[in-house]
Amino acid sequence: MRAAAIAVAEARELLLAEVVPAGSEPVPLGECLGRVTATAVRADAPVPGFDNSAMDGYAVRAADLAAGPAALRIVAESRAGVPAEQALGPGEAARISTGAAIPAGADAVVPLEEAREEEGAVVPTAAPVAPGAHVRRAGEDLAAGAEALPAGATIGAAEVGVLAGLGLAVAECARRPRLAVLTGGDELLEPGEPPAPGRIYDSNRFALAALAERAGAAPFHAGGMPDDLDGTRAAIAPALDADLVVLAGGVSVGRHDHVKQALAELGVEQLFWRVALRPGGPTWGGVLRRPGGRPTIVFGLPGNPVSAMVTFRLFAHPAVLAATGRDPGEEPVVATLTEAIEKKPGRAYYPRCRLDPGEHGWRATPTTARQGSHVLSSMLGADCLAAIPAERERVEAGERIEVLPL
Ligand code: AMP
Ligand code: MG
Repeated sequence: MRAAAIAVAEARELLLAEVVPAGSEPVPLGECLGRVTATAVRADAPVPGFDNSAMDGYAVRAADLAAGPAALRIVAESRAGVPAEQALGPGEAARISTGAAIPAGADAVVPLEEAREEEGAVVPTAAPVAPGAHVRRAGEDLAAGAEALPAGATIGAAEVGVLAGLGLAVAECARRPRLAVLTGGDELLEPGEPPAPGRIYDSNRFALAALAERAGAAPFHAGGMPDDLDGTRAAIAPALDADLVVLAGGVSVGRHDHVKQALAELGVEQLFWRVALRPGGPTWGGVLRRPGGRPTIVFGLPGNPVSAMVTFRLFAHPAVLAATGRDPGEEPVVATLTEAIEKKPGRAYYPRCRLDPGEHGWRATPTTARQGSHVLSSMLGADCLAAIPAERERVEAGERIEVLPL
């Protein structure tokens, strides 16, 4: 009997309910790109740490220039990294560089372009100047105690810069969940192996590891699964130590599909089998529970390369987000379909689309009309999966639909 397929959202909920955060570890700043903050990061001290000049010019006392241009005696210099030792008194000025500390007694900066120098004195030509002019205040960027980054922030270039600006050498990051990738089928060839009749190259191993890495997991190739039960069981068993296990191929109901049976024999509990979805209907989800220990979440994905990538995006990607302390319930992105799409009702459909900016927001266009689950090139240039709801039979060009960014 054919098992009843469950809805995509329901399958995702069943999996996410099992995810346990993977913990945290200190990571050197140079290795933080793409990692996720495990705790909020606060500024212990203000940034910048001292009042400093926004311009190359002269530090002055605004009160000296209240009546208009006046000659101010240059008594000191404040350079970036080398503050003036002397405080300014009435009628005095200091040369100053961008980023240099404002000397004690000064309260404004006159840019080089708005002053002329004569005989050891400077005459600001655009006087009077406002107190605070061209002064960057301590704490203008981040006040002392302010939250610089929240927990669960993905660290990009700006985040690395902000962390470095705080003087940190390491950041406490979510541990990347270990994600085992196993691919199966006697037809699979290793890269570089000579072609042979009926054999194909294993693309899932690399595409799935790439998706896993980009989602924030630490993927590793745990080996291949042959098309026999004992070999499949033996291949899967050691991989179950990982936080997440992604198996592709051999999951379905063919005579040579043994993954579900092997998982059952290894004590992995089924959460669902078959999802009302195209591509990717024959998807299996399960969990290996360990009393008092961390569970391992297992994803049995269809072997067809597009189905494998789509189901990874739908089910494994949010699990990686959750394991690293991020919200797996992403903000929906809405786009206008540029072409009508027809489908059978009863299963959600996820055509691969390109996104282009339009006058009224994003426009989604299928990458190709050849959207078969074996047409891996349909993933090329795809920015998103359009989410056509299960109940729909047709979506018109110009309709606004939710899409899942890839
Ligand atoms: P299966 O899910 O094992 O029934 O495989 C479905 C289809 O996907 C078959 O055409 C397989 O040859 C193909 N396939 C399975 N695994 C891979 C893989 N790792 N790389 C590329 N194609 C695969
Ligand atoms: Mg197979």
